[in-house]
Amino acid sequence: MKSDIRVCSAWHEAHDRPVYTLSESCPDCGAETANSAPAPFDPTDPHGEYRRALKRRNR
Ligand SMILES: [Zn+2]
Repeated sequence: MKSDIRVCSAWHEAHDRPVYTLSESCPDCGAETANSAPAPFDPTDPHGEYRRALKRRNR
């Protein structure tokens, strides 16, 4: 069965973590939501490098 769960498309900017909803707009910031079936984060995520740097620093 296909998932109806959607995720806020602007969560990178508006929230600390993905906001999941069944609605077509984010209940929190009102942004459009996207189907969550594809990866909830973008492989070209501009924060990816920052996250990796953070991981290194925590070692
Ligand atoms: Zn949102």
